[in-house]
Amino acid sequence: MVEKRVREYEAVIGLEVHAELQTNSKMFCACRVVDSTTAAPNTAVCPVCAGMPGMLPVVNQRAVEYGVRVALALGCQVNPTSIFARKNYFYPDLPKGYQISQYEQPLAQHGRLTFLTSQGERQARIRRVHLEEDTGKLTHVTREGESYTLVDLNRAGVPLLEIVTEPDLRSAEEVRACAAALRSILRYLGVNSGDLEKGVLRIEPNISVRPVGVQQLGTRTEIKNLNSFRALERAVAYEIQRQIGRLEQGQPVVQETVGWDDLRGVTFTQRVKETEDDYRYFPEPDLPPLALDPEWIEALRASLPELAYARFRRFQEQYGLSAYDAEVLVAERGVADYFEQAVAAAAGISPKIVANWISGELFALLNQAGQAIEACRVTPHALADLLQRIANNEINQNTGKAVLAEMFASGESAGEIVEKRSLRQVSDAALIARLVEQILAENPEQVTAYLKGKETVAQWFFGQVMRLTRGQANPQVVREVLEQQLTTLKKQ
Ligand code: ADP
Ligand code: MG
Ligand code: ZN
Repeated sequence: MVEKRVREYEAVIGLEVHAELQTNSKMFCACRVVDSTTAAPNTAVCPVCAGMPGMLPVVNQRAVEYGVRVALALGCQVNPTSIFARKNYFYPDLPKGYQISQYEQPLAQHGRLTFLTSQGERQARIRRVHLEEDTGKLTHVTREGESYTLVDLNRAGVPLLEIVTEPDLRSAEEVRACAAALRSILRYLGVNSGDLEKGVLRIEPNISVRPVGVQQLGTRTEIKNLNSFRALERAVAYEIQRQIGRLEQGQPVVQETVGWDDLRGVTFTQRVKETEDDYRYFPEPDLPPLALDPEWIEALRASLPELAYARFRRFQEQYGLSAYDAEVLVAERGVADYFEQAVAAAAGISPKIVANWISGELFALLNQAGQAIEACRVTPHALADLLQRIANNEINQNTGKAVLAEMFASGESAGEIVEKRSLRQVSDAALIARLVEQILAENPEQVTAYLKGKETVAQWFFGQVMRLTRGQANPQVVREVLEQQLTTLKKQ
C-alpha cells in the first residue's frame, strides 16, 4: 500500500486592507475627494492637506460614520472612544512628515468575517478597524538621463479605513475568497467601489509558513502592489512556495515587504521591514479623542443593510435556489435587489426561472453593453411582465429572448414590442391544423418519404409550420397537431 505523503508545511496568512472611503471631502479638511487616476494633479489641495505649519485638522463625520458601518458589518466592538495618533515618517507623499492614523485605541476591534471557499464556509477574525488618511501619489520619472519624482497631493488626506485580520487564512484560495467577501461588504455598504486596479481598495497579505503541528508563527513577508484578485491569489501561492523552498534548503525567511511582478509571476524584495518603533507613534495633539455616542452607533447598526452572506443563506431557504444560483445573485447588492423585486412582481413564476433569466439572458446583455444593473432599462417589473407572457403562452421562449434584447435596447415594455411587431404566439389549434394540412398538401414527395419510414421528415414539417408563422406558433401545439395528422395519414 502506498502511503500518502502528508503536507509538511502550512501557510499562515493575515490581511491588511486599506479602503478609501467614498466621502465628498477629505478626512481632515474640506478638499473634495477626486479620482486620483484621472483628475489633474494637485487640483484638490489646501493648506491643511499640503501640510502648511499651523493648520488644524477637523474630523470628517461622514468618514467616521462609514468606518463605524464597516466595523459593525464585520461584527466588531466599536470603541466608545478612540484616539488619533501621529505615525511619523519622512517621505514626500505626505508633506506633514507624519500620517494621522489610529494606533493604541482604534475605532473598532474583535470582529469576524465569514466567506465561502470550494472547501466550504470559513471565518477570519478581524483584529482591528481604524481610520487614517491616505498619502499623496509619487510618480518616478527618468527622462533624458535625468531622474525625478512628481508629487500629486490630490489623494493626500483622503479618508482611509484600515482593516486588519488575524492570521487565520491557510491558502491562496482562502485569501482570495476572504478578500472578495470583504470587498462585497464595502460595496454593499456603499463606502468603497472595490476597485483594486485604481488602488481605491488595496489588499496586502502577510504570509508565513510553518511545519504542520507547530504553533509558533514563522517569519512573515508582506506583499504590496496587488491590483487584481487574480494577482492576489497568484502572488500568495507563489510566496508560500518560495518560503517553503527556503526553509527546505535551510535558509531563513527574511522579514520584508515584497512586490509582485505580474508578468514574470514572481515576488521581489521592495524593502526590509521597518518596525513599529521606527514610526514613533504618539497621540495627535491637534485632535481630541474621538468620542462616539452609543445611540448613534446603535442607530447605524439598525440601519445596516442585509449583507451578501445573510442573503446567500436566505435566498436558498426562501426561494429554493441552489447555492450556486444564490452566490451568483448576491455578489452584487444591485443584482440581489433586482432579483427580489422581479420575483415579487412575477406572481406564479418560480424564482428559479427568474434567477435563470437574470444570470443568463440579462447578464449577457449587461456584459455586452458594459452596463451595471442599476442602469438597466429593463426594470424588474418589466422582466416579470415578460416572464408572465411566456408562462401564459402569449409568446414562446425564443421570442421572449428576442423581446428582452429589444426591451434592453429601447426601454419599451414587452407588451409594446409584442404588439408592434405582432409577435404573439399562435396557440389556436384550429389555425395550426389548417397550416399543417397546407404544408402536407404542398409537399407530396415528403409525405411519401415519411410514409415509407423516413421519420426525420416529421421534424422538417415542424420547421415549415414554424417558418410559416415566423416562429410564433406554439411549438407544443404544432407537435401535437402534426403528430395527429401524420398518424391519420399512416392509417389510410
Ligand atoms: P504591521 O502593522 O506591522 O504590518 P501587524 O502585527 O499589525 O503588523 O500585522 C499585520 C498583518 O499580518 C495582520 O493581518 C496579521 O494577522 C498578520 N501577521 C502577523 N504576523 C504574522 C505571521 N507571522 N504570519 C502571517 N501573518 C502574520
Ligand atoms: Mg503591515
Ligand atoms: Zn485639503
